[in-house]
Amino acid sequence: MVAIKDALSKDHVGKKVQVKGWIYRTRSSGGIVFAVLRDSTGIIQVTVKKGNVPDAEFENATKSGIESSVIIEGEVAEDKRAPGGFEIRASKFQLVGIAEAFPITEYQSTELLLDLRHLWIRSREQTAVAKVKAALVRGGREWFHDNGYVEVNPPIVTGVCPEDSTTLFQMKYFDRIAYLSQSAQFYLESLIFSLEKVYAITPSFRAEKSRTPRHLAEFWHMEMEAAWLDNDENMKVQEGLVSAMVQNVVAECSEELRLLKRDPASLKKMEPPFDRMKYDEAMEYLQKKGHDVSWGSDLGAVEERTLTVDRDTPVFIVNYPKELKPFYMKENPEDKRTYKNSDLLAPEGFGEIIGGSERETDNNLIIERLREKGESLDNYQWYLDLRKYGSVPHSGFGLGIERIVTWVCKLEHIRDAIPYPRTVARVYP
Ligand code: ATP
Ligand code: MG
Repeated sequence: MVAIKDALSKDHVGKKVQVKGWIYRTRSSGGIVFAVLRDSTGIIQVTVKKGNVPDAEFENATKSGIESSVIIEGEVAEDKRAPGGFEIRASKFQLVGIAEAFPITEYQSTELLLDLRHLWIRSREQTAVAKVKAALVRGGREWFHDNGYVEVNPPIVTGVCPEDSTTLFQMKYFDRIAYLSQSAQFYLESLIFSLEKVYAITPSFRAEKSRTPRHLAEFWHMEMEAAWLDNDENMKVQEGLVSAMVQNVVAECSEELRLLKRDPASLKKMEPPFDRMKYDEAMEYLQKKGHDVSWGSDLGAVEERTLTVDRDTPVFIVNYPKELKPFYMKENPEDKRTYKNSDLLAPEGFGEIIGGSERETDNNLIIERLREKGESLDNYQWYLDLRKYGSVPHSGFGLGIERIVTWVCKLEHIRDAIPYPRTVARVYP
């Protein structure tokens, strides 16, 4: 058996191969069936000629519709008209699983494709996105490993709220209430006192009620935390990681990128350092571009689009006002109204892919901010303990894996960056 990608080569011309796959499209005319076969690696044309295969097999070839699974044997031949330039002239056509009339045809509504997600994920675009995503994650893992980070497994069921209490998913947990994790950050912070440099790849859950093209209720989060790291060093880690992830995609997935109409050359430029822009400068820039914003305004998708649409590499926005960000960030001594933090925005209008900061080490400030938010300190005693026993300066960040996939694959909507998107409107299939 050979993979279709490998069968499409001069080396195989004149040789007999066996391929296994699914019918991608098919037509027949006058005693010949032209079927295009798909496997996980690509597509290839198969011609089944009456007389070249047993009659019963030819019969099966004519009635095998889209998505029927088959095993084909035959000789590879060059054919300029076939997709990829080669075809298989079948000497054997084994029908394994006949498909009923496939419910997805060429032009379908987004809603229908979401209802039929379990079938739509077979599409070539979805397959390409899945491979790009895997290459991004693998590039990230390798970068972390090469740079001395230890992968750890924080809990998903928690009692803390690192981000925004209005987007917590509550669950019944025996006779108590618990939450699905919004971020592993606090647990990663606790692990730096032994491991120093840690990262985790976990699902995070946020009950995002507004429907935006960049929010999922369940997303995959790549988070890191490191001791002895200030926020400038933290940004260096982020640009090193992001470029390693993207370069791995360029190296491994050039065909998938082309299928997604993303020029690999446009990604090759993602090399550190990325530009840095103070929040204050971002505000001035937005005002000049006609946005109705002032110091203290949050940056949403619209503002981030303006900030990045003319850029072809990512940019850090640095030192946000405190009221826009969570309580655990380190106060900026140069301007106490702000934190030592940054968001990393992807270029070409895509916007935020990472949020990071140096972490506050002063328990008094943390307690003050928790009180202001009306949080019960009881839930945070263990977190406050971390500052009591050998506290160190430290920093970390969270990268949204589907956000980076959306950007790298140039997707219009984040739901296409995950096989089964979970949004306010959808938990089926
Ligand atoms: P946003 O302002 O876009 O809602 P955030 O400030 O809530 O993002 P963080 O809490 O800093 O984001 O989370 C870290 C990263 O996780 C973000 O930079 C983003 O890449 C990703 N992320 C956050 N929320 C979501 C979501 N609902 N769906 C997908 N990815 C998300
Ligand atoms: Mg958010």
